[in-house]
Amino acid sequence: MLDRKSNNKLKQLQEECEALFKHVKDIIVLFDKKGKILYINPAVKKITGFSIEEMKGKSFKDFTFVNSKNRRKLADYFAKRLKNPEDQSVSEVEGVSKNGRKIIVEVSANPLKSGRKVIAVLVIARDINKRKQIENMLKDSKERLRNMLTSSPEAITVTDLNGFITECNQATLNMHGFSSKEELIGKKAFDLIASKDHKKALANMKKTLKQGFIKDVEYTFLTKDGREFPAELSASVVLDTTGKPIAFMAITRNIFKHKQSLKAGKEFISIASHQLRTPLAIMNWYSEMLLGDNTGRLNNKQGKYLEEIYKACQQLVRLTDLLLNISRLELGTLKIEPELVDIGKVIDNVLSELLLQIRNKKIKVNKDYGKTPLIVNADPNIIHIIFQNLLSNAVKYVHEESNVGISIKRQNSSFLVKISDNGYGIPKNQRSRIFTKFFRAENIREKEPDGTGLGLYIVKSFIQESGGKIWFKSEENKGTTFYIKIPSNIKK
Ligand code: ADP
Repeated sequence: MLDRKSNNKLKQLQEECEALFKHVKDIIVLFDKKGKILYINPAVKKITGFSIEEMKGKSFKDFTFVNSKNRRKLADYFAKRLKNPEDQSVSEVEGVSKNGRKIIVEVSANPLKSGRKVIAVLVIARDINKRKQIENMLKDSKERLRNMLTSSPEAITVTDLNGFITECNQATLNMHGFSSKEELIGKKAFDLIASKDHKKALANMKKTLKQGFIKDVEYTFLTKDGREFPAELSASVVLDTTGKPIAFMAITRNIFKHKQSLKAGKEFISIASHQLRTPLAIMNWYSEMLLGDNTGRLNNKQGKYLEEIYKACQQLVRLTDLLLNISRLELGTLKIEPELVDIGKVIDNVLSELLLQIRNKKIKVNKDYGKTPLIVNADPNIIHIIFQNLLSNAVKYVHEESNVGISIKRQNSSFLVKISDNGYGIPKNQRSRIFTKFFRAENIREKEPDGTGLGLYIVKSFIQESGGKIWFKSEENKGTTFYIKIPSNIKK
């Protein structure tokens, strides 16, 4: 029996509960010392399906919706809390709602005292069903991710933000020649990259952090015993639930075989085009001789056929030259033999080669070379190829009676060459692809079906090789201007 003071206190508590907890989402229960419910708030109906009336007056031992094991757990927890009121622990209890749904609540019990005597226990039961579901889903997906990682044929490596390896799969171990994960985890990812690529790797780590990912970067990787091999890496940043970066995940690939087959392909093109050159030159030469023969040995029809053969030969010569240049560039076998070259003279030579087309199309060429000497220290063949491509384009991609302008200006230690035309122009949506291999813009494909789409790729590569720059401005049906900056003292 409680004394009067405690009884009053208990009543007051009940009233306070009524006033305070009506709209609270958690179940709030006031138990007396024996575990009988004195007050329970409306949340009980929402969480368990049982009404306040069904619950009031019951002891927690009568909770039919909680099985005996969980009831025992609850009783133990209450006992523990009563014994040690300072202990802040909570308990998870499972049950079944009135309509058969699984309930999981997190229970916290707080003994209430009058003086030194415990007179009641206030219990808060929070519905954690959703939280549990999410936790389980996360656990599941973590496990699935781990399985995917281990069984993936791709080499996957996870590092923390400082680049220390925290996880990797069998494919990574195989690729670098390690026998167990323990050998690799904890090591710096940089230990797997050749030192010459460390600067690049650091810059790429920063880039990945900034843009969230990085794709197909080439590195020289190392095996456990220090052997080098070429590899390709794509990586992304792993974020936590608040969007904060916590790790890097990289997928890497040994590209040794891929590189070898590419090299073999390029070598084949190089050899084939080299071998084609001599017979083509002979065919070219003899057709030129026959065409120039004015003795009347060929009738009109024969002359026309021969002209077609000659044109086709010239096209083939151009194509084999382009292919040879590309394979030399890509195989790194291009020989650069610098000497003092007058760019004005090279351009004039190219113009005389194009004289026939210029005359046929009645093109007006405007030259403005300024007065300073136009000497650069460069390979004359390379300079010739650059302007041969740019000027033949300017002459090719214009209507009859158009203008082509060439200006050369000295700018400190470089020359800025401008080649402009008022011709077909380049459509806006295709401008970004103009320097890529085999690209030909849509607007010219019908008007000028002959072309390889290789010229500008070579021009750009040559200019970059020489430490220069090329860019352009163009408007469809108005014209195009190419800008070429060449350092007067070309490196190499
Ligand atoms: P090709 O001329 O053999 O097609 P290029 O690599 O020299 O190959 O040029 C690529 C493409 O760039 C051309 O097909 C054309 O669409 C465009 N282009 C180049 N120069 C000009 C120009 N002066 N005017 C308009 N379009 C041009």
